[in-house]
Amino acid sequence: MTIKKLGPEELLALDKFSVDEGNPHIIVDKVICAKCSARECLIVCPARCYRLKNDEVNFEYVGCLECGTCRVMCSGKGVTSWNFPGASFGVTFRCS
Ligand code: SF4
Ligand code: SF4
Repeated sequence: MTIKKLGPEELLALDKFSVDEGNPHIIVDKVICAKCSARECLIVCPARCYRLKNDEVNFEYVGCLECGTCRVMCSGKGVTSWNFPGASFGVTFRCS
């Protein structure tokens, strides 16, 4: 049997998401984030849900892997609410 090594992007592409439209499980306060200089979220999120655009941190909960890293690492308290998605929503991890 041959085992194919996959990179992070390929592994992420295997995951399946059921999105609870209009009901984000993580709330990020843009006003607070505007005052944050550390911006750990841009570095630590494995799914790149936090992105910098025009020097502003944008957050998109679609694609979140529910790892909780941003909740722990956010030093500026911009992550004002963090919950797991409701039943039947969120990520399903799949192996190749
Ligand atoms: S819980 Fe993990 S994957 Fe989801 S936004 Fe936070 S760091 Fe990213
Ligand atoms: S680390 Fe926290 S407060 Fe700072 S930009 Fe990211 S989410 Fe906002």
